Amino acid sequence: MKLVLKNLFTALFLAAGLANVFAQNTQKPQRTIVIMIDGFGEDYYRNSDMPNLNKMEKEGIFKIVPSIMPAVTNVNNVAIATSEMPDKHGITGNVWYNPVTKQEEFIEDPDLIIVPTIFDRAKAAGIKSALFSVKKKTIDIMSINTDISLCPECDGADESEWAQQFGAPPAVYSKEVSYWIMESALYTMKKNPDLGFIYIHTTDYPMHTWAPEDKNSKEFLHKIDEYIGKLHEAAPDAAILITADHGLNHKDLCWDLEKACANRKTPIRISISPEKDRYFKHHRGMGGSAYVYLKSSKDLEKVKKTILSLQGVEAVLTKEEAIAKYHLLSDRVGDLMVLGNKTTVFGLLQDSESEKLPENYRSHGSTYECIVPLFVYNAKKAPDASFFDHNYKVAAWLYR
Ligand SMILES: [Zn+2]
Repeated sequence: MKLVLKNLFTALFLAAGLANVFAQNTQKPQRTIVIMIDGFGEDYYRNSDMPNLNKMEKEGIFKIVPSIMPAVTNVNNVAIATSEMPDKHGITGNVWYNPVTKQEEFIEDPDLIIVPTIFDRAKAAGIKSALFSVKKKTIDIMSINTDISLCPECDGADESEWAQQFGAPPAVYSKEVSYWIMESALYTMKKNPDLGFIYIHTTDYPMHTWAPEDKNSKEFLHKIDEYIGKLHEAAPDAAILITADHGLNHKDLCWDLEKACANRKTPIRISISPEKDRYFKHHRGMGGSAYVYLKSSKDLEKVKKTILSLQGVEAVLTKEEAIAKYHLLSDRVGDLMVLGNKTTVFGLLQDSESEKLPENYRSHGSTYECIVPLFVYNAKKAPDASFFDHNYKVAAWLYR
């Protein structure tokens, strides 16, 4: 039923959009490239040699803006790609608790996005679009209505024209995989001058692995900056819009909230880490916020008290408080939302209720990773800088 509704909605939207385009006649919108640099907190930018971004900062619009909570990829990537907050777009994590199956499930079904994406909007405006992402989860949910899409783990990527050009895709746990996706996007843009909208999404694996001061991180971001320069060189007419989903911080403590609550005689049904995805090596599924589902609504105060007593827990919001504060869709958050301090994360642990994490462990998901840079460069019809008050506004003005 949901599928039918979404399709009907999309069809109506496309029809309305097409009518609008014909009414406006054929003035061609400016070619546009959106680059979502996954995990690109301001500290990563400031610690790296990125001359092309420095130039864009000076000559275009540059701001440090809030990103969306929970500070995880899907929530923000979909916000950027739909220009909406999670209460409108529907994605509240990399996973969600499906009330029908009564299980935690990865977000891989495109119908979970309940508004049109920018690719739907581009199509309605008669613009050819492409989506290049390192993460298959992004292609799974966002590539409907793109003309071209690619990810290293997508079916056929190994034998694709991009693999013929640039070799088989590197492992997803590498910095090279982001170079491969950038190279593929650059090649595709040069080959298809009629492509009007390109969205590129790199991976935060390097940021999970290295702090901003680490030479490996600097090397990675310098190289990404070179690709941004090459994209601009290949399409000097194009607007370039750049932002990120979240930053990253070192975390030193993880709580398994199911075990911690059970040990304190206030058991819960399930705790979900919105950060958990299939890329386990990045963060072991641990993130700086958690959704807690209660066994009974009567347990609310007791469970809240237990969780607030845990070291490193900064706040426990009720569902109503969480959806009001962070604009979340009520069907897709827990009875409680738990927020860690800057160095505390939540996730499943094998044997104990808590674990001290190694010095090099880095992750996100909390309010402390919820601020990112935003660049708008060479965009002829972009609104005034005051319009860009969040990361998800970066492309919100396009194809309206
Ligand atoms: Zn991310």
